[in-house]
Amino acid sequence: MENEKLMITLEDFRKILGAEWDIFQKKILHNCLCHTCDSAYDSTIVGYTVEINDLDDVILLGKCAKCSNPITRYVETGENEEQVKVIEEIRMRYAKN
Ligand SMILES: [Zn+2]
Repeated sequence: MENEKLMITLEDFRKILGAEWDIFQKKILHNCLCHTCDSAYDSTIVGYTVEINDLDDVILLGKCAKCSNPITRYVETGENEEQVKVIEEIRMRYAKN
């Protein structure tokens, strides 16, 4: 197994973040690095899909709101016990399908 990634829904992602969802909406979404704009983490990610990686971290893959070039945003959930618990439940659910 190498670099296994699982694509999840926005609803799953919301469950993972739990109480941190509001912070995510207000801050993380608008603090993304775009190499094209060279925006110093000031870009907003739009139209994104959500993946979890083998470290239980979340990766958003989307576009920069300013220039539409592809950007990614890493959200470190893998070190938060509560969030990892939810991720494990999601993994089990997807494994059944
Ligand atoms: Zn940009």
